[in-house]
Amino acid sequence: MKSVSRNAPTHASAEAQRRLAYFAERRDEIVSTIRELVEIESPSDNKAAVDRVAEAVAHKFSRLGGKVDVRVHPAKDFGNHLQIDFDFAGKSAAKPVLLLGHYDTVYPLGTLAAMPCRAVDNKLTGPGVLDMKSGIALMLHALAALQEWHGGLPRPVTVLLVSDEEVGSDSSRPITESLAKKAAAVLVLEPSYGFQGAVKTARKGVGGYLVKVTGKASHAGLDFQKGVNAIVELARQIEKVSSFTDLKKGLTVNVGIVSGGSRTNVVPAEAAAQVDVRIARTKDAAGIDKKMRSLRPFNRKCKIEITGGINRPPMERTTGVAALYEQAVAIARELGWKLGEAAVGGGSDGNFTAGLGIPTLDGLGGVGDGAHAPHEHILISELPRRAALIAGLIEVA
Ligand SMILES: [Zn+2]
Repeated sequence: MKSVSRNAPTHASAEAQRRLAYFAERRDEIVSTIRELVEIESPSDNKAAVDRVAEAVAHKFSRLGGKVDVRVHPAKDFGNHLQIDFDFAGKSAAKPVLLLGHYDTVYPLGTLAAMPCRAVDNKLTGPGVLDMKSGIALMLHALAALQEWHGGLPRPVTVLLVSDEEVGSDSSRPITESLAKKAAAVLVLEPSYGFQGAVKTARKGVGGYLVKVTGKASHAGLDFQKGVNAIVELARQIEKVSSFTDLKKGLTVNVGIVSGGSRTNVVPAEAAAQVDVRIARTKDAAGIDKKMRSLRPFNRKCKIEITGGINRPPMERTTGVAALYEQAVAIARELGWKLGEAAVGGGSDGNFTAGLGIPTLDGLGGVGDGAHAPHEHILISELPRRAALIAGLIEVA
């Protein structure tokens, strides 16, 4: 379920050229900001580590000019979240634009040793360089540029950076939603799509379920008939839930992990499956949730328990999203490039804000490949026009 429009060169305007040149001159500075952030490792499950990167990020934002209010939202089981409000000097009732991102990564401490942050030709590598420490650096440099160009920010801006996006955003979701409700639009600095840097105008909603079967253990040789095989029951349930997939609706059900049994000579008493559910349309959420919860044992001697639910609503390409994308396309055209869009299966915190009906544009961050993989990298040459696009969107969104 991916689609991308092709890029074709157009002509840049003089003002846009000046902006591109401004960021091109500062390209190495942007790279060194990214490097600093990548070299502070920050796996979601290590609060101390994530708090360290949060502190470094807070320091960088507080050093931007103007009146900056840096607020730490403490989290007990995850790293702290950071909210940064920039005061708008002018008199205007304009709502803020919300810049959204996360500084946690999927990489355990020590990954940096095997996967250092290195610039080789046009590639900058490292854990989280694409997802999404380059996005945070782009925010910083776009805001600094706007302050310089306008003698202060041209409109109110709020930045929210969270610590638990890679593990479901349970602790940050209420903050994200409350700030989004006050915002005119949400710009999400997650990685862009493909090497042409397409933005993301639709994301699937994501759910997770655990299907747990309890049977009865017995000796496979001595007491075979007294046993109730939980694995056999689970196998039938796996076929059942897999049949819920409906590709025409963009609805998929993937049994990703199964477990069960203890020894080959024991009829297994327990088995479980972890199931990933994706939906393209909000209206399909209740239906698939009901189907999952209505599972009943084929073998009545088995007990079956279902836990979980839909975690992120889909980000649908609403008229608000489409309008924001059109604004981005217009800015990109001035900068001399045709900005594509993509619909992707993965979720982000943009799903929450779009789910509230707030115009949201995602995938505005770094351009590269290999998120969550050993070859994760960004393209250094794309940084200037990315920063120029973000700066332009902050002005008009
Ligand atoms: Zn991400």
